[in-house]
Amino acid sequence: MANTTAELEMLLTQRSLTDPELLSAAEAAADVRILPDATVIKVGGQSIMDRGRAAVYPLVDEIVAARKAHKLLIGTGAGTRARHLYSIAAELNLPAGVLAQLGASVANQNAEMLGQLLAKYGICSVSGAGMSTVPLTLAEVHAVVFSGMPPYSLWTRPAAEGVIPPYRTDAGCFLLAEQFGCKAMIFVKDENGLYTANPKTSKDATFIPKISVDEMKARGLHDSILEFPMLDLLKSARHVREVQVVNGLIPGNLTRALNGEHVGTIITAS
Ligand code: ADP
Ligand code: MG
Repeated sequence: MANTTAELEMLLTQRSLTDPELLSAAEAAADVRILPDATVIKVGGQSIMDRGRAAVYPLVDEIVAARKAHKLLIGTGAGTRARHLYSIAAELNLPAGVLAQLGASVANQNAEMLGQLLAKYGICSVSGAGMSTVPLTLAEVHAVVFSGMPPYSLWTRPAAEGVIPPYRTDAGCFLLAEQFGCKAMIFVKDENGLYTANPKTSKDATFIPKISVDEMKARGLHDSILEFPMLDLLKSARHVREVQVVNGLIPGNLTRALNGEHVGTIITAS
């Protein structure tokens, strides 16, 4: 902990970048929270956007009202159109990096649609270099829309099996929340949260209000309501140590979650 800048510099110039002493000295340096007042919201692709007007319009109203009291970074999922693309591309034996580009294009479409619906309130969607304008946009209109897919593109690290890109929009939105050191991360989907099994196919599934990453893994729920690599991202996060998954089909849920209420499932890093 007592490392000085000079010591760190000495380690950085003389040691391997994975040297344990170097890593712990670098770790001891304080982290900056870039946007500590903002909350990242992920609007589900399949679970919300694909339902069209019935799901999206009430959520838009809620976002417009909530941004008076909250600063919102709104990320979009991809959903059914991406799954269609993945199935065609996988059948054509194309690699994960190509599928990642295809998935990103669908998340972009959803960001574009959500951005246009919010445009009259001054809220726009940003991408690429536009990300650098996020602090200004947040200061002015308290909300901004971004495409949830992380830009790994052709450089996507393939999963152990198959060609589906493992880091998709749940991971992309979470990574942004963590990098910016945001206040909270809320996943808006179409179920009340995590259940003991997929509630769409298991009628006797029971609701789990709060759970840790380790418990989720132990109960075999690592690949359920969130993309599986999300759990490890959450576990090793410095800033965002819990996320909440809420049912965005119930009006008021998002607002309550933004106010810190427990309305869905809270998944904790430890
Ligand atoms: P998004 O629209 O954000 O991509 P997904 O559709 O990928 O969201 O994920 C949400 C879905 O996960 C739910 O609609 C539900 O059918 C499914 N799911 C699978 N297993 C579970 C589980 N154990 N608990 C809750 N939901 C689950
Ligand atoms: Mg999904």
